[in-house]
Amino acid sequence: MYDVYSKHADDFINHEEILETLAYADENNNNLELIDALIKKAALRKGLSHREASVLLACQDEEQNQRIYKLAEQIKKDFYGNRIVMFAPLYLSNYCINGCTYCPYHMKNKHIARKKLSQEEIRNEVTALQDMGHKRLALEAGEDPVHNTMDYYLESIKTIYDIKHKNGAIRRVNINIAATTVDNYRLLKEAGIGTYILFQETYHKESYLKLHPTGPKHDYNYHTEAMDRAMEGGIDDVGLGVLFGLDKYRYEFAGLLMHAEHLEAAFGVGPHTISVPRLKQADDIDPNQFDNGIDDDTFAKLIACIRISVPYTGMIISTRENQETRERALRLGISQISGGSKTSVGGYYMPEPEDENSEQFDVSDTRTLDEVVKWLMEMDYIPSFCTACYREGRTGDRFMTLLKNGQIQNCCHPNALMTLKEYLMDYASPETKAIGDKLIAREALNVPNEKARAAVLENLRLIEQNNRRDFRF
Ligand code: SAM
Repeated sequence: MYDVYSKHADDFINHEEILETLAYADENNNNLELIDALIKKAALRKGLSHREASVLLACQDEEQNQRIYKLAEQIKKDFYGNRIVMFAPLYLSNYCINGCTYCPYHMKNKHIARKKLSQEEIRNEVTALQDMGHKRLALEAGEDPVHNTMDYYLESIKTIYDIKHKNGAIRRVNINIAATTVDNYRLLKEAGIGTYILFQETYHKESYLKLHPTGPKHDYNYHTEAMDRAMEGGIDDVGLGVLFGLDKYRYEFAGLLMHAEHLEAAFGVGPHTISVPRLKQADDIDPNQFDNGIDDDTFAKLIACIRISVPYTGMIISTRENQETRERALRLGISQISGGSKTSVGGYYMPEPEDENSEQFDVSDTRTLDEVVKWLMEMDYIPSFCTACYREGRTGDRFMTLLKNGQIQNCCHPNALMTLKEYLMDYASPETKAIGDKLIAREALNVPNEKARAAVLENLRLIEQNNRRDFRF
């Protein structure tokens, strides 16, 4: 039975409720009166329920769809300004005992090069990432209780936080690893992780069981209830996601929003982020073998509908997508992107030899971080390397409250400008720096509060003189 408060996956992601939602959306996909009312409701910036949002996703009226896109753009601006948070994935190990049919790590894949980074190799990778200018990482690994133990993760996190190299430091480590126990989540929290990310892959239980035929990940309920355990273990920032292409996107969309509603109902705080990966070509994986791929227009509509349904949730897009798709997605709601990413185990410090492929998927956006930063600034976005919220304890419901009443802008905008200035001084090419300096000069004058503006200008002057201090708002 559908129950948003229940801790059982079958209740809060209830199959019948999703089917009824989709039927309701089909019945109303041309109900202009209802669609108009829903767009007006979304404009109040308090979000939409999975049922309401599903009607808008199903809507085929071009004029109404344009209104949805416009609203998504506006909500994105209102909540996140023109800042885009930057991060990079760091693949620790591709050892895996699961049988996921869409993932090259699957146990039966004998030609992928299996690798696991030693602590020394992690130091090399992180130093290379710091030399690019990264401050925020997402750790990634397959599931293997022998190779990829919790002790290994904890040691790796400590290694990463301890590395101080020139002006660089990784100040926020997020982690995307297999579902685990409450005790392990507690250990991850104590180790200082930012967000715990786990993609649901698909909310359709029957498909899930087929797509994950063997290994611990086969247990749909254990996987789907992972965020509940993470929150019980004290992690208050969790990141959801669906791997689009595995099942029908409208089913996934309703499931994703129901998951968000459940976390909000059960813990008082919804997901910190939602990721929107699409299935990609990879070693031993041909995306064409999966029937549910979505085209770029549908993908854009999905992003816009997520944006207006959960305005307070950050949205992430990776280098699975090319420049053009990312550009469109940024306008419609994405607030975090990766840049200069490698999906191989150990690819940052030294390129992989040609006969060794350990990658998780083919990257579509292969530009360097400098190129991505420059591209963003040319579109008037402020690439942000800020991690202050996390260090200031602005996580979970504290963060959400500030975001919901618009106060987060007062911290994020100044912090974004100052961390961008540091990036430009330390890592940018002369061309990128010239564009960035102009942008910062203009944006600094837009800091609304007079006192904050004076402080920002003073800090920017100090950074320019290479006189660093740990400013943060
Ligand atoms: N082992 C962890 C787990 O079980 O969730 C971490 C997963 S993996 C390092 C990160 C994500 O990559 C997966 O959750 C999956 O959604 C995605 N992925 C796997 N195969 C992919 C493919 N062929 N194309 C695009 N994304 C893929």
